[in-house]
Amino acid sequence: MLDNIRIVLVNTSHTGNIGSAARAMKTMGLSQLVLVDPVSPPDGKSSALAAGAGDVLANAKTVATLEEAVQDCGLVVGTSARSRTHSWPMLDPRECGVKLVEEVTHYPVALVFGRENNGLSNEELQQCHFHVCIPANPEYSSLNLAAAVQTLCYEVRMAHLQREQTNNVQASANTAAEYPLSADLERFYAHLETTLLNTGFIVKNHPGHVMMKLRRLFNRARPESQELNILRGILSSIDRSTHTAKPASSEEHPVKE
Ligand code: SAH
Repeated sequence: MLDNIRIVLVNTSHTGNIGSAARAMKTMGLSQLVLVDPVSPPDGKSSALAAGAGDVLANAKTVATLEEAVQDCGLVVGTSARSRTHSWPMLDPRECGVKLVEEVTHYPVALVFGRENNGLSNEELQQCHFHVCIPANPEYSSLNLAAAVQTLCYEVRMAHLQREQTNNVQASANTAAEYPLSADLERFYAHLETTLLNTGFIVKNHPGHVMMKLRRLFNRARPESQELNILRGILSSIDRSTHTAKPASSEEHPVKE
């Protein structure tokens, strides 16, 4: 899913930033990097800063225009260090992550980053459905390009993990454990009592709390249907062996029930 979230870098001047952006992407599970008219193509500096993300760098596509980079995308979000574009629909980074992760299930989506010196042009920003601004220190809000890529990719990852977790909870709710009905539990308690009387562990007509304590134990554990079947099976196996075994000797100390 994250493979269809495209990171687009427009007209990047520092090749090192391209490598750092690739690394930032890979740490967050993203892999599609598109370079729009980079000032210089990726070089040794890019590879050095990409470190273990050389594959993302090697697979990066280079195109001439932003239009070309996003033509097959159903959602394009532009980034800006200043919220100068208030006339445009804005997302905060968290909303941006959620929106990208939601919509990528339908079509490829793109997150577009601008030039180190002057960001994205107005024309480029107008090719985006939404703008996102990382609410940094208002006195110094311009992050390094790769740091901005890292921050927004982190939000994408968080939204992705959240979505996965929600899906897992739903899936496990569908395969929820089956619990026995209380009548089944009562049959189990009756069986347990009979077996414990037969083995001599409890003694009929003597007051005691053993059955109450055992009920409390099993209610706390809340056995699933399958587990209750196992317990019934254990009791039956005890029943079979006590029918063939000799009665408990008087040396043992039965609990009074
Ligand atoms: N002087 C430029 C800043 C460029 S920083 C300007 O004012 O636009 C390079 C790129 O990093 C930006 O184009 C944007 O893509 C990203 N970036 C930096 N700081 C950001 C922030 N606070 N919010 C969103 N993106 C940011």
